[in-house]
Parts: sequence; structure tokens; C-alpha cells
Amino acid sequence: MASIGHVIFGLAAARFVDPAAPLRQRLYTAIGLATLSLAPDLDVIAFRFGIPYEAPFGHRGASHSLVFAVLFGAAIGALWRREMRRPKLVIPVCAVLVATHGLLDMLTDGGEGVALAWPFSNARMFFPWQPLPVAPIGRALLGARGLYVFAVEMLWFAPLVAYGLWPPRRVPITPASAP
Ligand SMILES: [Zn+2]
Repeated sequence: MASIGHVIFGLAAARFVDPAAPLRQRLYTAIGLATLSLAPDLDVIAFRFGIPYEAPFGHRGASHSLVFAVLFGAAIGALWRREMRRPKLVIPVCAVLVATHGLLDMLTDGGEGVALAWPFSNARMFFPWQPLPVAPIGRALLGARGLYVFAVEMLWFAPLVAYGLWPPRRVPITPASAP
């Protein structure tokens, strides 16, 4: 996995779907979208069931594929869209956000590759260029190695952090909405 990178993509997506939302509301949306962005890593539970890393339903397998991203992201987006001010964007944004998870993992320099093309292929893939150090799995994420990965990802994705935390866009007062 990448680590804070997935959360940062959720934060940026929260601003994208509702740029005029007050910061507190954006924070709630960001928590939801960051959780969605991290969701593919729930597959680490496969280790508990003895499913090998490289198996189709092992870690970085089916849940990290583009097909899963479209199906799962669209389903969650469909449940959520009425709550957003730009509802048409919610389904595609949720699908793309889940897809960024596998793509980010393909930029990491360790672990197994990502089964991006599942169910058509179980080939495990990386990008040819892997600038992100792979995050440790489990409690080790809170140790020195986890901190190093966190710092590197914060540097890489600083522009997205700034975008996500930028103050809300002012909504112009139209004659109809003026008091
Ligand atoms: Zn992952």
C-alpha cells in the first residue's frame, strides 16, 4: 500500500465534488472519501484466511483492479450522490478515486504488483517508475518506516493537500438569493 497518499486523494476529491462546501462539511466528505480510497486495502484480511499474497483474492488482487473500482466506486457513489451539491460528479469521482488506489500502489517499490486487469488477467503489475517507498503492513505502519513513507508521500502529494485544504469558493449572491 501507499499510506497517507490514499487519504490525500480522498481529501482532494472532497473539494472537487463540492468546492463551495464550508470546511467542516468538506471535512466530513473527506473522511468518507478517504475511507473509500483506502477500502481496497481491506483485502489484507486475506492473510488471516491463509490466501496467498499473489492469489486473485490476495492482497493487491481483485480489490485493486479497475473493474472493482468502477463497480464498487459507482455503487458507493450512487448511495451518496443526493447529499452532494454536484451530484452528477459523485459516481465518476468515486469510481476514479477507488481506481487511484491500485494506480498509487503501482508506484510503490515493494510488495507484490497490482492485479489491475482482474478478472481478465491476474498478472501483478507495477509502473516502470516507482518513486514511492512501500508502506509496511499492520502495526509497523506506526513505526519509523511508516513515518518515512508518510513524509515522502506528503512531499509528493503536497499540491493535492493544498488543493484539498484550500478555503471554499465563495458562492456569488444572485438577485434571487439576495435578502
Ligand atoms: Zn493497496
